[in-house]
Amino acid sequence: MAAVDDGPADQACAITARGLVKEYRRGDVVDRVLDGASLEVPKGRYVSVMGPSGSGKSTLLHLLGGLDRPDAGEVLLDGAPLSSLSDDDRTRLRRRKIGIVYQFFNLVPVLSVRENIALPAVIAGQRERTYRDKLEQVIELVGLTDHHSKRPNELSGGEQQRTAIGRALFIEPSVLLADEPTGNLDFRSGADILALFVEAQRAFDQTIVMVTHDPRSAAYGEEVLLLRSGSVAGRLDLDSRGQDTARADRAHEARPRAVLRWLEDQEQLDLTPHPPRRARVEGQAAVRL
Ligand code: ADP
Ligand code: MG
Repeated sequence: MAAVDDGPADQACAITARGLVKEYRRGDVVDRVLDGASLEVPKGRYVSVMGPSGSGKSTLLHLLGGLDRPDAGEVLLDGAPLSSLSDDDRTRLRRRKIGIVYQFFNLVPVLSVRENIALPAVIAGQRERTYRDKLEQVIELVGLTDHHSKRPNELSGGEQQRTAIGRALFIEPSVLLADEPTGNLDFRSGADILALFVEAQRAFDQTIVMVTHDPRSAAYGEEVLLLRSGSVAGRLDLDSRGQDTARADRAHEARPRAVLRWLEDQEQLDLTPHPPRRARVEGQAAVRL
């Protein structure tokens, strides 16, 4: 998928997934949610993942982030075989290298913005002076300098999501994974969050994989993948389109139009969410670090 000039492909890829299979059992019934999903995400690329509700987008993200392991296939993180590690090693690698942002922010209510952002270091018992520079840099990037001592319930939804993104970026992750990060925000706050992803990509050469069902959001990525019937069934390259070069304005109206046209070609125009077939807790109640 990616044009790689130097060295083996895996070294230039932040994440490689090969032939991922994931099944869920309910009594005698086996749901094969992923059935051979493969993708490559080059370092520094911003990839959007679309697909109908229930197509396995969140499941795929969990496997890419090492929160869960596939029944078959493998995930390579910076070339290292994430999915074949023991649970303990996989958790360690995930905490060091994966930043995750959810639809419902998952902040710790009793901690301030700065404590939430530095949570991995707070939990590890590090003194603030050892990470203060990094923390200030992240607080500034996510635009919360004026709010750094507030608690989550004193923030707008957009500010809470900025805090969650700050926490994800604080560890300088190899990959930032985001599952419907604007799904709980109004249009304006959502656009701010997407612009922040582009800013993180520019500032840190941050690799980003973002799940969304919204074509306008997907258009901020440099490529869009379509998940369907358990595998990656389509790919749209948004970088090769006219004026929309790598760092061009991702909100430019030509980009969402290109995504919509492409979805139409794929007969996937109806990506609006509908109630899940089975009730389940979305976004996880607990913060997972
Ligand atoms: P999407 O994010 O694309 O809406 P999901 O990955 O959340 O889809 O879910 C895909 C399918 O897998 C759904 O049918 C869902 O009910 C099922 N599923 C997801 N997680 C679990 C789980 N932990 N146990 C059982 N079924 C699950
Ligand atoms: Mg989902």
